[in-house]
Amino acid sequence: MSSLFAMDIQKLKGVGQKRGQLFEKLGAPTVGDLLRLYPRDYQDWTERLPIAQAPLGEVCVVRAEVLRVPSQVRLPGGKLLFRTTATDGETDMQLTFFNNRYIPKLLEEGRTYLFRGKMQRVKGSSAMTSPEFVPEEREQEIVPIYPATAGLGSRVVAGAVRNALALVPEAPGDPLPPALREEYQLCHLGYALENIHFPRSQTDLEIARRRLVFEEFLVLQLGLLQIKSGRREKNLHPVTGEYPEEFAELLPFRLTGAQQRAIAQGVQDMAGLSPMNRLVQGDVGSGKTAVAAALCWTVIQGGWQAALMAPTEILAAQHHQSLSALLGPAGVRCALLTGSLGAAKRRELLESLAAGEIHLVIGTHALISEKVAFHGLGLVITDEQHRFGVNQRVALAQKGASPHLLVMSATPIPRTLALMAYGDLDVSVLDELPPGRQTIETYLIDSAKRDRAFRYVQKHLDQGRQGYLICPLIEEGESGMMSVDAYAETVRGAFPHTAVGVLHGKMKPAQKEQVMEKFAAGDFGLLVATTVVEVGVDVPNAAIMLIENAERYGLSQLHQLRGRIGRGQYPSTCILISDNSSPETLERLRLFKSTTDGFAIADADLKLRGPGDFFGQRQHGLPQLKIASMTMDLDLLRQAQRCARRLFHSGGLEGEEYRKLRGEIQRLFAKTGGQRVAL
Ligand code: ADP
Ligand code: MG
Repeated sequence: MSSLFAMDIQKLKGVGQKRGQLFEKLGAPTVGDLLRLYPRDYQDWTERLPIAQAPLGEVCVVRAEVLRVPSQVRLPGGKLLFRTTATDGETDMQLTFFNNRYIPKLLEEGRTYLFRGKMQRVKGSSAMTSPEFVPEEREQEIVPIYPATAGLGSRVVAGAVRNALALVPEAPGDPLPPALREEYQLCHLGYALENIHFPRSQTDLEIARRRLVFEEFLVLQLGLLQIKSGRREKNLHPVTGEYPEEFAELLPFRLTGAQQRAIAQGVQDMAGLSPMNRLVQGDVGSGKTAVAAALCWTVIQGGWQAALMAPTEILAAQHHQSLSALLGPAGVRCALLTGSLGAAKRRELLESLAAGEIHLVIGTHALISEKVAFHGLGLVITDEQHRFGVNQRVALAQKGASPHLLVMSATPIPRTLALMAYGDLDVSVLDELPPGRQTIETYLIDSAKRDRAFRYVQKHLDQGRQGYLICPLIEEGESGMMSVDAYAETVRGAFPHTAVGVLHGKMKPAQKEQVMEKFAAGDFGLLVATTVVEVGVDVPNAAIMLIENAERYGLSQLHQLRGRIGRGQYPSTCILISDNSSPETLERLRLFKSTTDGFAIADADLKLRGPGDFFGQRQHGLPQLKIASMTMDLDLLRQAQRCARRLFHSGGLEGEEYRKLRGEIQRLFAKTGGQRVAL
């Protein structure tokens, strides 16, 4: 089997050079890859229903005899239409076909066919329009549907797969050794390949799929475990294992239990034999920054430097401000490095950083730039990690000699998925919000009620609070949607006594920062903004948010936006404005209204959008799964996870019987790029 991965697809019977390129485009440059190009769907012709029992409006297969030669009707405009009747002996069914003049040749009177299509009722009788059909003696009954590309249809792919299957030896080398297959009741690879492509029955298909899903999860998990252990180098920055007591004294508040646990876990990691590799996961407002600060403080006490990378300039500036206010008085020297820093200042900063005079540098991805060098980088933190690729995380870490790594994420990923996405990290969960947090009320209204909403905003302003007004577009766009500037004018008109700031992504970083500073200082009562405020921005006095065209946002994005309020001691209100009445939108917005639980929202989002989107366009850097679904196959995922851990920790992967499995891991991760897999 593995040699088929060395066989160029062009060498396969019936493919050749031109088609070979199309196969390559489909992700099958070799015969081996083609065998692993699984159907995206199947047409099942096996379950046939009597015409009378076929559910209306659903695709089904019926077996029926054609009662008469199809008759031709010419419609005005020249279109051709054919009609005939077929029967299953009990019930008749009207058949209509458009624009296919071969119908009379293909459908013979007195012959029995299988028809596949949506059953309808027309004038009281059963009917199908343009069903697919085959003579009943057709042999293969579950038809694979392949991902197709221009010039390469599913049928051609199926043909090539048949030829490829013919090359698979009777008993191909199986990455899963017999003992493992037996333990988890998985079929042999040869059987699985045969039946995933051309299943004889739904049961065979299920058996094949189960095995392949398990294998894929197992390979993925083992790969992740290997990456993780690849970082099991020596800890070059061992801190003393104590919880940083003095740090607690710097804080204006008492740490929550969850924060204390996360800090203790991090400190313990950093005192261990190998570098820390940890994810801190906590919903918006759970206080991740304090955890980061504690760990920075610990590392800096040990005489090393720390770097914190944030996805936006606003956020970097904000972290810089709060961390230098917190740690500065204790003698920690902090600096801010973003793309907008002037050349002279930048040079100066880089020099002191390289000389070790700066203890903590906070910045955007500008930190990864080649020119940035450290004196002794002991800790790398990335905030809102889902915005960064694995590669960026690694690039920053390479500025030091195996520094400790901390990743902070506000995306409440369901646990199993977290294990998957961050399988190479240990996880701390901040499952407790700081005390005194107020609940956020959420309302959904249509734009006719905007005036009332504005009055409600005014009430909050009168009480000394501030608010965000979120507007979807920077520039004038589709009808009915205002640009930020136009909207800001409306807002200024409606709130004549309030200073209104404007913030959007196209502003210069320095401008953005200035606006944010003024808003944080209370100089602006209201901030009209696009989703640039979505990430991390922290102004506790802001207690009201209005989101215009709420239908334009995904659930997780809404959750991030709403996380900007309810951060202080004030009861907060979020008002969604939408005139969209599509049932899905309403369902989404109602669900959002009903809960502030990030995990519930993440779960719903996952169901609505699927994991691909969920992880932000594969930014996580994980290899793409070919058959397994992280949402549908959770049970197999858990089994494979357990199996992987056991194999890995018992050193069980080294034996000869796992040579093929090791090959699969290498193959899966070879395509990811940027990830080192030590095998
Ligand atoms: P996030 O997890 O979203 O990054 P932050 O670290 O920005 O949250 O913290 C949110 C707010 O809560 C900040 O204003 C911070 O000062 C405050 N905060 C954090 N921890 C505590 C605590 N233990 N008690 C009170 N307030 C806290
Ligand atoms: Mg944060």
